[in-house]
Amino acid sequence: MDASNICSFMRKNQASILGRGFLGQSFDGLKHVVASDGVRAMMESALTARDRVGVQDFVLLENYTSEAAFIENLRKRFKESLIYTYIGSVLVSVNPYKDLEIYTKNHMERYRGVNFYEVSPHIYAVGDNAYRSMRTEKKDQCILISGESGAGKTEASKKILQYYAVTCPASEQVQTVKDRLLQSNPVLEAFGNAKTLRNDNSSRFGKYMDIQFDFKGAPVGGHIINYLLEKSRVVHQNHGERNFHIFYQLIDGGEEDLLRRLGLERNPQQYQYLVKGNCPKVSSINDRSDWKVVRKALTVIGFNEDEVEELLNIIASVLHLGNIQYGGEDGSACITSDTQIKYLSRLLGVNGAVLTEALTHKKIIAKGEELMSPLNLEQASSARDALSKAVYGRTFTWLVNKINASLTYTWEPVQYFNNKIICDLVEEKFKGIISILDEECLRPGDASDLTFLEKLEDTVGGHAHFVTHKLADAKTRKVMGREEFRLLHYAGEVNYNVNGFLDKNNDLLFRNLKENVLCAHLQVMCMSENKILTQCFDREELSDKKRPETAATQFKASLAKLMEILMSKEPSYVRCIKPNDSKQAGRFDEVLIRHQVKYLGLMENLRVRRAGFAYRRRYEVFLQRYKSLCPDTWPNWQGKLVDGVSTLVKHLGYKPEEYKLGRSKIFIRFPKTLFSTEDALET
Ligand code: ATP
Ligand code: MG
Repeated sequence: MDASNICSFMRKNQASILGRGFLGQSFDGLKHVVASDGVRAMMESALTARDRVGVQDFVLLENYTSEAAFIENLRKRFKESLIYTYIGSVLVSVNPYKDLEIYTKNHMERYRGVNFYEVSPHIYAVGDNAYRSMRTEKKDQCILISGESGAGKTEASKKILQYYAVTCPASEQVQTVKDRLLQSNPVLEAFGNAKTLRNDNSSRFGKYMDIQFDFKGAPVGGHIINYLLEKSRVVHQNHGERNFHIFYQLIDGGEEDLLRRLGLERNPQQYQYLVKGNCPKVSSINDRSDWKVVRKALTVIGFNEDEVEELLNIIASVLHLGNIQYGGEDGSACITSDTQIKYLSRLLGVNGAVLTEALTHKKIIAKGEELMSPLNLEQASSARDALSKAVYGRTFTWLVNKINASLTYTWEPVQYFNNKIICDLVEEKFKGIISILDEECLRPGDASDLTFLEKLEDTVGGHAHFVTHKLADAKTRKVMGREEFRLLHYAGEVNYNVNGFLDKNNDLLFRNLKENVLCAHLQVMCMSENKILTQCFDREELSDKKRPETAATQFKASLAKLMEILMSKEPSYVRCIKPNDSKQAGRFDEVLIRHQVKYLGLMENLRVRRAGFAYRRRYEVFLQRYKSLCPDTWPNWQGKLVDGVSTLVKHLGYKPEEYKLGRSKIFIRFPKTLFSTEDALET
């Protein structure tokens, strides 16, 4: 029944186009020559179009349990460059690997304020729908975009942002926020994305972006949370891959004066941190023009000249660090040339001799005294790389914070909900679950996963959101193992099995202790005159009071918290599919696609949609739109809304199993019911 939608669109345009020999373009991008002999010709063309382009909602597939039919529908549409298809309100998107003419301002206008089923599938429809639900239902929304590397997640999120930037109301102040939101992308991509074998612009960090709207629906602020940047890429890349884009952009695009000041040469192959992948150039990337975009974006976001200078000093310093070579005959590492140290001490504003010592020694405590002990060659280079990773990683976080500061309006952040009670239980210093785990990891003797569980029972056993098998009531005990504890999260209860907790955390602790070798480095960074670095490296870290962070501590703000944030919002879903592994337009690799359909759970999505009520509309919206189809509801229904809707759908011949009337909305099981009502409007 996809055709009915195309058809209804065409008929909508009939009045203006008939008799003019018009080359129209449907929303689906199909071209139709619409002749003056009217509806019949258009119907026929639409029906054959359906065979060719498949259905625009998988719910409409006759054989909806067949994976083969599902993939065939995707294939048909992909061939016609129709990259979007719905499963109810879930949007499935197949990366076209070519620019499509479907992201113009005109397209944005078409989707503005229009219901899903009235226009063909598009990422703008998802954005628009979330925006309208936020406004009409006064509920926070989130759009979850998933798919494998190269499937189009980042592009999808950018399209949504562009859609809001164009379609949401704006004042001068709001315009600044819009600009900054948009410009945060090139900056974050420059520092956080890289060319990999799978994607020329692969995001090497997780990103959650929040946009805040005022009561008029204008974007007034934003916030970005970054997750787990792949820091190892700073010092090593696999063959055919690159370091983060910013290094190449700076080297290729940076002005002569700038490069001279930074002591950089134009050739990326001069830098140890850029040669590992043997891939200085990428055909799809223009580092020089990207540099200009990033440079401008930094200004739009609100970086002043000093900050940009300091940021670039750090980027250049990482390259100089990578070129430090070690030698030494007696097993103690020494730096073979002082060229890099000179640049580093100038760019970072640190004392060269202190830096040299920090790059060749570690600090140890022997018999209560602090001593500098020399590193061997291997230790020195791995400590140098660790410093580079730490500097880059922390600068990236600083960058995100800086962007966030620029997106904060004189506006008060709305509390999503108060989950402090759970956060404290998990994170609180000295008495939260993570602290107890860390304690147990460091305790010599008989520490084990089970002693950790016992410690938890002793320490947080009385907490209202915590329970173990031993502490639970009889009913809960039935659904809990003896090695589990349960947290009562905002989103629901989750059981955690303690098996392996100590081992995993110890391993990660070990890594952090290794970072302690960096103690000497930390000291140097804290003494730096570079203001960004002094913000990134906190003196407190050096004091005994602050222990090195364990991985568990580092993760504490990440996934669980993200889930809590997301669970407090109404979700929309975009599932991105990568059509082939060669980044080529027009190639539909069925095996690869079938695999993604499986692991994205799309067939399950479809079954659930078919079984449930796929469409829901608020009574007033439904009545307003279709009241003209029934003499009793036209021109205005005077009684209760629910009675008006009931009268209307009975008149339209809806069967009882096709719909349900809820508190404030009508739920319609099959899209075809709604489509035929839409069609009736046109005739
Ligand atoms: P990763 O997980 O590696 O970050 P991703 O899912 O974010 O991958 P993208 O970077 O969004 O993938 O997409 C990869 C490339 O595919 C883009 O750089 C672009 O060339 C192309 N692409 C993705 N979506 C579209 C689209 N809608 N139109 C045109 N090209 C697209
Ligand atoms: Mg990405």
